[in-house]
Amino acid sequence: MAGSTATTDQAAAVHHPERRSGPAGVRSPLPSEGPVVLAVDIGGTKIAAAIVDGDGRIGAEATVPTPASHDPEAVFGALTTAVAEVRSTGDPTRCGVGCGGPMAPGGRTVSPLNIPAWRDFPLRRRLEEVVGLPVFVDNDAKALALGEGWLGAARGVQDYVAMVVSTGVGGGIVVDGRLLDGAQGNAGHIGHVVVEPDGRRCACGGQGCLEAEASGLSIEAMTGRPASEAEPSVRRRAGTLVGRAVATVANLLDLELAVVAGSVALGFGEPFFVAAQEEIERRARLDFSRTTRIIPAGLGPKGPLVGATAVARRTVADGGGDGRGDRR
Ligand SMILES: [Zn+2]
Repeated sequence: MAGSTATTDQAAAVHHPERRSGPAGVRSPLPSEGPVVLAVDIGGTKIAAAIVDGDGRIGAEATVPTPASHDPEAVFGALTTAVAEVRSTGDPTRCGVGCGGPMAPGGRTVSPLNIPAWRDFPLRRRLEEVVGLPVFVDNDAKALALGEGWLGAARGVQDYVAMVVSTGVGGGIVVDGRLLDGAQGNAGHIGHVVVEPDGRRCACGGQGCLEAEASGLSIEAMTGRPASEAEPSVRRRAGTLVGRAVATVANLLDLELAVVAGSVALGFGEPFFVAAQEEIERRARLDFSRTTRIIPAGLGPKGPLVGATAVARRTVADGGGDGRGDRR
């Protein structure tokens, strides 16, 4: 039961958006109570589905490997297998999905870089046909940003960036308590902020992007060994570069906090976060940005499914439109 002061305040703030609640004057981007959700996380190595209640508690959960196939139906078949395992264990009223990008607004079609079999795959329609529920799809890093604001390390914070530093680097940004979408739904791609102007070529076609310098794949390419075996100097450098990107975004958007998930960041641990914080303090020197903090994400392994749940809840918080990003 959502009985704490914080969650009560958040619910009140949703019904009265003009009324900023709580001692810090904060308002959550999400309501505290919500529907039971069929949550789906679609990644390059695995697909997970779960029933998640209105307080973010994960019930039945199923995980299947993502087929290494070029057949789009093979991947979709794995997805429906995971969904079928949990679908009947609860009574969800909507389905929320976090999926790798890029995608068309609202996930009408998805082309995840980490799932080559899906190019312009009509995920939302296909999944709606299978589950018989309204389906809400967003980028997995934006989903994480919503989840961290709802129940994680950014709870009660209105202005923050959530990042995933793992194989690649992704992000989602919340400003004034609202997740930024951008013209085509892709706001928050902090992995493509330039941190080394003369640096490595990036898969996006640019040069010196954070993802080309500090992702797990780029670290492996540079050092010849997996990121999990990286030397302390490599760990600190990755932290420094992440801090550099965060400082840039904090200066631009007046952010209070960066929360970071992902196997590379969390695996590198304290040396990474100390170096990142030092670089933020070196590069974010405006009165409002010099207090920006960077901390590990709070949801741990639950992050993707809680984030997918938050994607389905978001339309409740926004209180308008169909909540699927179909604004144009
Ligand atoms: Zn790039």
